Amino acid sequence: MPARADLRREYDRKRRQSHPWRALYKTPEWQAIRAQVLAAEPLCRRCQAEGLITAATVVNHVERHHGDPVKFFAGPFEPLCKPCHDGEVQRQERAGAGNE
Ligand SMILES: [Zn+2]
Repeated sequence: MPARADLRREYDRKRRQSHPWRALYKTPEWQAIRAQVLAAEPLCRRCQAEGLITAATVVNHVERHHGDPVKFFAGPFEPLCKPCHDGEVQRQERAGAGNE
């Protein structure tokens, strides 16, 4: 059995190959947008809706961008904590499997 970390690396590698637009997250433009969103709204929007105060660490695309750079950089965006973001991504992936 391969170690769990190896499986994770392999998964990440495959995911990068099938979604080359993930490189958009590495651009200075995205880094600036991300910093701006988190500075303007430092708390997780979903947790806040539940009455919880949680620091946001992830900037989520409210609408799926499907790798379209215009949509990717135009937003709209929402600040989320990691658990909310991961839950959201999983929900979207279940809803639109293979639709990315
Ligand atoms: Zn949250």
